[in-house]
Amino acid sequence: MNNVETIEGSSVPGELNLFVVGTCDKRITFYSQQVRAINLVHALVDTGRQKRHAKCAVVGGGACGIAAATALALLVPDATVHIFERGQQMLNTQLGCTRRNLHPHLYEWPSADSQNQDAGLPILNWRADSADRVAKAVLQSFATVRQAFPRIIERPLLQVFNVARNGSELDVTFKPRHEDADQHESYGFVFLTAGLPAYCGPAIVPAS
Ligand SMILES: Cc1cc2nc3c(=O)[nH]c(=O)nc-3n(C[C@H](O)[C@H](O)[C@H](O)COP(=O)(O)OP(=O)(O)OC[C@H]3O[C@@H](n4cnc5c(N)ncnc54)[C@H](O)[C@@H]3O)c2cc1C
Repeated sequence: MNNVETIEGSSVPGELNLFVVGTCDKRITFYSQQVRAINLVHALVDTGRQKRHAKCAVVGGGACGIAAATALALLVPDATVHIFERGQQMLNTQLGCTRRNLHPHLYEWPSADSQNQDAGLPILNWRADSADRVAKAVLQSFATVRQAFPRIIERPLLQVFNVARNGSELDVTFKPRHEDADQHESYGFVFLTAGLPAYCGPAIVPAS
């Protein structure tokens, strides 16, 4: 897939700089979502679409969201990245899950590479293990990135429920869980990485 196909594959039709990553795709795994996020950010940077100093929102602090945030921090100079997560912590789906194993190359069986325990990712890499231990390893790498790039800001316990066009910006509407008051903030780029559609809160209000 070339850069343009990668970007188009995640773009919301008619909406500039609004991306939905993997939600409607097949073969969604922890690893494949990391790859989608990294490839998308790389393609945006490579084609000059992603601007320096961009203010970006990532909606959902799962495997996809933190990979997108990390790639943005590393590849876009001076980008500010806010990760909205409705749960208490990033990777909350995997943390504490000790009975289920994640293997990065599950879908590659029976090719020889499917035996490789190592994800082989350039960032936030991990090895086959329980979901809990994979999440902890990835979060440890993420913590190191966040230390180096304080412009990545985690915003836990905030549920996004609307993204609307406001001129060249995108207005993100969110509220703390269990509170009524809406809050809004504008971003140049929004990455919806909120997981499966059944779990997705945010509605996208099309440009009028
Ligand atoms: C029962 C089950 C078993 C699975 N087993 C495996 C497996 O063995 N191996 C494997 O690789 N994959 C497995 N998966 C799939 C794996 O969970 C996903 O591939 C992976 O979690 C996708 O990452 P993601 O970041 O796209 O989405 P998610 O992990 O779903 O992360 C999305 C995040 O967004 C947050 N969020 C959602 N809506 C909002 C909102 N409106 N505002 C703010 N935050 C929001 C959620 O709280 C969540 O933290 C399994 C999934 C399920 C349900």
